[in-house]
Amino acid sequence: MKKVTFGKPIIGDEEKKAVQRVLEGTLLVHGPVAKQFERDFASFTGAEACVSVSSCTAGLHLCYFDMGIGTGDEVIVPAQTHVATAHAVELCGAKPIFVDADIKSGNIDISKIEERITPHTKAISVVHFLGLPVAMDKVCAIADKHGLKVIEDCALAIGGRYKGKHVGLWGDAGAYSFYPVKHITTAEGGVVITKHEDLAARLIHKKAFGVDRNVTERKEPGIYDVTDLGFNYRMNELQAAIGIEQMKRIDKFLDKRKANYDTLYAGLENIEGVTLFEKPGEDFVNSHYCLSIILDENMRKDRSKLVKAFNDKGVGTSVYYPSPVPYFTYYKEKYPVTGDEYPVASAISYGSIALPVGPHLDVEDMEYVADVVKMSIEEVF
Ligand SMILES: *Cc1c(COP(=O)(O)O)cnc(C)c1O
Repeated sequence: MKKVTFGKPIIGDEEKKAVQRVLEGTLLVHGPVAKQFERDFASFTGAEACVSVSSCTAGLHLCYFDMGIGTGDEVIVPAQTHVATAHAVELCGAKPIFVDADIKSGNIDISKIEERITPHTKAISVVHFLGLPVAMDKVCAIADKHGLKVIEDCALAIGGRYKGKHVGLWGDAGAYSFYPVKHITTAEGGVVITKHEDLAARLIHKKAFGVDRNVTERKEPGIYDVTDLGFNYRMNELQAAIGIEQMKRIDKFLDKRKANYDTLYAGLENIEGVTLFEKPGEDFVNSHYCLSIILDENMRKDRSKLVKAFNDKGVGTSVYYPSPVPYFTYYKEKYPVTGDEYPVASAISYGSIALPVGPHLDVEDMEYVADVVKMSIEEVF
């Protein structure tokens, strides 16, 4: 039987050799490799500045922290996203104000943002859901009107562009993840890109305890001052070494994802009971993280059966994401909700199945996946 796994990091000899070189050197942190990785990532995206961090979550938290967002403040957060998008706000003591998704894209419903803005709102966050860019000019216009910061969660969106500009550069900052199943990996890790060089300088400072000079900048060993509150959110040299090699493959990865996505999309159109996110216009360059199918309401209760039927035929699946964030226990207990305030996010969370399109797969695998989807739906329903 064919095995089509959902996600698989592609680690070659180049990555192994790069890690080996770091291990044989003297610097494991604070070295030139992370700096090189930052330059490579900035040059790929066109960012003025790029700051490596220990994860996307750390990057988001660091941004809010630096912006002084805290107790009594509110931040607009998409209801349909990874919990990290909201946790980063919570960690600062601010309150996430959730906005439902748009059924055509899975992205935040921009038409519902303004009604959630209050005098306490400090920022709008968005997630480029499954790699499809949010119409950022509209979000930025709302933010400008109300004097708000914009933070982009780009964890699934490397290579995503809106109107020619890479995601993460529309707002004040964009955070990326290199967790193993994302487009590229450093095992764990992330970056923040931004057009504001002063913001980047502060993030560099605050990701390392707020000390005034790092190990390589000290005139006398062991002597430094601490000028700010900060974290230990650095990316180490081993991670960055893997990242540099991964970035050399990024164009190929993205091409393959697009070819796989397009093939699978064509194979899944016009299946009864199944909806796909709409193909957006040419302003939107998708980074094709995965392809989710959304089941009609009457089929949703049997989603697990369908997942099992796919998995039994060797097709790996996932769910992005398993619950609207406001319905996760932590959030529900802290900010009570009725349970039907986010109908679109619910339709996606409880009614979708994510299918693989990663670069470890090819077009023939996609034809197999489409066949399995059709066969399994007939079996189960
Ligand atoms: C994976 C993911 C994150 C978390 O990334 P980490 O690097 O694991 O912190 C955040 N946001 C989204 C949308 C994600 O998919």
